[in-house]
Amino acid sequence: PHIARLIAAGEVVSRPLDVVRELIENALDAGASRLEIEIEGGGLGLVRVRDNGAGIAADGAALAAVRHATSKLEPDADAVERVTTLGFRGEALWAAAQAGELHLVSRPAAQVGASEVQAQGEDVTVRRTSAPAGTTVTVRRLFARLPARLRTQAPAAAEAREMTVLVGRYVLHHPGLHWRLTVDEEARLTHAPSDHRGAVASVYGPLNANRVLRVQADGICGVISGPELTRARRDRMHFSVNGRPIVAPPELEKAVLEGYAELLPAGVAPLTVLDIQVAPEDHNPNVHPAKQVVALADLAGVAARVRSAVQTALATHPL
Ligand code: ADP
Ligand code: MG
Repeated sequence: PHIARLIAAGEVVSRPLDVVRELIENALDAGASRLEIEIEGGGLGLVRVRDNGAGIAADGAALAAVRHATSKLEPDADAVERVTTLGFRGEALWAAAQAGELHLVSRPAAQVGASEVQAQGEDVTVRRTSAPAGTTVTVRRLFARLPARLRTQAPAAAEAREMTVLVGRYVLHHPGLHWRLTVDEEARLTHAPSDHRGAVASVYGPLNANRVLRVQADGICGVISGPELTRARRDRMHFSVNGRPIVAPPELEKAVLEGYAELLPAGVAPLTVLDIQVAPEDHNPNVHPAKQVVALADLAGVAARVRSAVQTALATHPL
């Protein structure tokens, strides 16, 4: 009887990395200014995200892990087209509770007591407790009840490496927040509120940060490396759309390279962090469960904006 449910949950959470991403996005949606992420055993042992965001009010706590329960959509048919939050399906906490053991403690700053939710499969218990304002979500023993899924997981060290890259991308696109990633009790990545350049320093080191130019034009904001940085790799091109890191469509990478034109030797990619703003109705994050692939209504127009923002940055900072 549980099989269909487990399969559906497995589409939302197919590996520990998915849990990390969903919990981070919930914290960002809650307006947190501090996010602390803890991983143990490549995330199969434990994933925990602690935030200082808006929290979940006592009367909403029991719903948090219920499938399709979301506080982020108005109850009308086309609300999903106006979505401005990173989450909107109400499936992540539910899926985490199906695939593992979910523990959540949350308190809105204005509420006296906190709520504690424990959920595993369909078993959900809620009690009152005390806690600092914000939310801490812990997922333990992911896939322990799904041996087939467990067998196909990457080794812990590999998954932890990818998580570090993932968290790095969030840091690059949300540099104004406090971030901390701990892997098996060891600090992997820390960042204090700063700008995009500061985030490049936290993720790629100060040498790289010294070489970047600021981009600020027409709904596009971020940094790009000066063309003298010839060793950057294509996996260092980062884009977000309305705050969500995306898998960049090739058109956007190409637009960056075109912006450099002959300043860039062939086969070389600049370090790039670009936050792109589009009107909510111009993008659809609903095309993929992980929401990292977004459909842009006017991809050519966005690419043209990117190209021209890069050109402007290079022209105003002659090298
Ligand atoms: P979604 O993000 O799609 O709404 P989730 O399953 O990720 O669905 O979360 C369910 C609900 O739980 C959210 O709509 C939100 O109300 C609440 N929630 C989850 N995580 C947090 C958090 N870190 N801070 C505040 N509220 C949260
Ligand atoms: Mg969510």
